[in-house]
Amino acid sequence: MLFSLPDLSFVDLEATLGDWGLPAYRARQVWDWAYVHLIDDFQQMSNLPGPLRDRLTATFCLDPLTPVATETADGRLTTKTLFALPPLEGGDRIEAVLMRYPAIGRNTVCVSTQAGCAVGCAFCATGQMGFRRNLSAGEIAAQVLHFARQLKPREQAVTHVVLMGMGEPLSNYDASLAAIRRLHDPAGFNLGARHFTISTVGVVPGIRRLAGEDLQVNLAVSLHAPDDTLRDELVPINRRYPLADLLAAVREYIDRTHRRVTFEYALVAGVNDGETQARALVARLRGLLAHVNLIPLNPVPGLDLRPSPAEQVRAFQQVLEDAHIPVTLRDSRGASIQAGCGQLQAQTS
Ligand code: SAH
Ligand code: SF4
Repeated sequence: MLFSLPDLSFVDLEATLGDWGLPAYRARQVWDWAYVHLIDDFQQMSNLPGPLRDRLTATFCLDPLTPVATETADGRLTTKTLFALPPLEGGDRIEAVLMRYPAIGRNTVCVSTQAGCAVGCAFCATGQMGFRRNLSAGEIAAQVLHFARQLKPREQAVTHVVLMGMGEPLSNYDASLAAIRRLHDPAGFNLGARHFTISTVGVVPGIRRLAGEDLQVNLAVSLHAPDDTLRDELVPINRRYPLADLLAAVREYIDRTHRRVTFEYALVAGVNDGETQARALVARLRGLLAHVNLIPLNPVPGLDLRPSPAEQVRAFQQVLEDAHIPVTLRDSRGASIQAGCGQLQAQTS
């Protein structure tokens, strides 16, 4: 099997080519082709000698993912792609989503960090699959490179990356952070750290660790309930990291990074969308440098949960606004093709 180039850091590539007896500038040339020009075939790396191109082709692949299906929605502005992971036969599958916003020049890719997820949130399609495996850094980065290659002929680029697809990024911490660093590299793909968002269900040790990284990424925390009784039910990991511990870790994160944290709150009809719950949320978040992103629940087949009606969403939002807590409503991109938040699900081939 070929090694995946996106799984190598620049230092790893330099070491490999050094072992092959090549001068240091060769690694820089390969990196430039892969991450600046987004070339997916070593034979097109025209400033490399033929024998080196052949050796690279025999050793590495530039894209470890095989796209097997694509669907579009929202007037073709949203694209969901299903990828087969290695090994191709009987391997796991994941999905990633490109959301284009031409009016504001934004192209966001939502990537998966795991095939399946062990957390099992009550409202999430990925959670219903159970955990299959962690993705490697290269498999995470390659989802972004895939869409970047599609945008390039239109002279467009990926401007934002959100780790909000399948899986819990902080339960696959090293690969998630390595993927971000790989794409952040100013001598390569060069996406600014502030253009990445990590969404976590609330893995407290991961939040503490992230606070110590020298990386200005955005953090989003999936809250979904203002009290432990309800959160235990909706987000089972709350039994391990209850709200007081989670919010203490978030407070620490803000103190150390001085960065505003987003709390995600999926509104489920009759479950967590009451005005009493909105007031309880206000009490929890008061004084935190935070922002609340309300997500009308995306329906998941087989789950008996419904999105809150529009007037209930408005009333909930109003309570937060009256308390001067910054709040926005997430758009429901991709919901019609099961590409919305929490709708990604991909079974083994
Ligand atoms: N595991 C991480 C990131 C992936 S889920 C996390 O849980 O944060 C990305 C976001 O989609 C999370 O905020 C999650 O709670 C939310 N989500 C899950 N299922 C959803 C659904 N059916 N409707 C709306 N949002 C959902
Ligand atoms: Fe996992 Fe996030 Fe889905 Fe919960 S919402 S099951 S943590 S992917």
